Amino acid sequence: MNDNLQLNSDGKLKHFLTIEGLDKTLLTEILDIAESFIGMSDQQIKKVPLLRGKTIVNLFFENSTRTRTTFELAAKRLSADVLSMSIATSSTSKGESLLDTIRNLEAMFVDMFVVRHAISGAAHFIAQQTAPHISVINAGDGQHAHPTQAMLDMFTIRQVKPDFSQLRVAIIGDILHSRVARSQIQALNTLGAAEVRVIAPKTLLPAHVESLGVSVSHNLNVGLKDIDVIIMLRLQKERMTSALLPSESEYFKCFGLTEAKLKIAKPDAIVMHPGPINRGVEIDSKVADGKQSVILKQVSNGIAIRMAIMAMAMQTQGAV
Ligand code: ASP
Repeated sequence: MNDNLQLNSDGKLKHFLTIEGLDKTLLTEILDIAESFIGMSDQQIKKVPLLRGKTIVNLFFENSTRTRTTFELAAKRLSADVLSMSIATSSTSKGESLLDTIRNLEAMFVDMFVVRHAISGAAHFIAQQTAPHISVINAGDGQHAHPTQAMLDMFTIRQVKPDFSQLRVAIIGDILHSRVARSQIQALNTLGAAEVRVIAPKTLLPAHVESLGVSVSHNLNVGLKDIDVIIMLRLQKERMTSALLPSESEYFKCFGLTEAKLKIAKPDAIVMHPGPINRGVEIDSKVADGKQSVILKQVSNGIAIRMAIMAMAMQTQGAV
């Protein structure tokens, strides 16, 4: 999906649906604007008036903890009025179509939709159908994309290792079903990472994965060599339609990140995970809670990144 739909005629962000088609300058601008928000969380009054008077609706058709709450906090810190809708408890479950739900919310003078949906392309569809003044942010669509997660990951990496051109990044685990991995690979390649390496069993890799711009390893002991950034992924069991693995314990033995395996990477490598983490399945607790882990930092950074993207899409970041 190449989304010129994301940019307005001046090349500014209008919707944020996928990393694909966005250039390095724009991704860097997102990171820089997020940087300007990062200190705010320590202040006594954690608010700026950038989106005062704007109405944002979080439309979550799929469960979420981190993404939904950090979007909500981000909107509140920008002084927007924010409404979070859990669709399991709304009219779509009574048979109302997605488009009817959107039309009804539009009639309430909404300025932005933040959308999570189990179907790939859902946010894109809403962006195409909704009124022209409304911005749409993709908070994860099926197996397709999770661009705000990828950007908060890039932000977290840049805080510790500022020069992407020096970085070898390993993404480990269920690449096949991961919208996060797809967006991360696009972001890392756009920002000029030296190498993006995927490490996974063959059954958890998409066909022709190299065409995404990655190198491939099926062996964690070999694949972790020279790595600066380790990104672990959850087994997306809800998306597995057949048995792709012998067992979770077998998977952990081969692809789980333990303290011993971590030593194969560079000594100052950082460990990341988009969450939710499954301890003892893809990552050992000692690593998840260890000193090389930046997993909770990723969560905190999610607020600043989402503030930046919402402000940019509403064309108000100039006031920052
Ligand atoms: N939270 C991420 C997502 O929504 C990763 C995951 O669920 O494993 O895709």
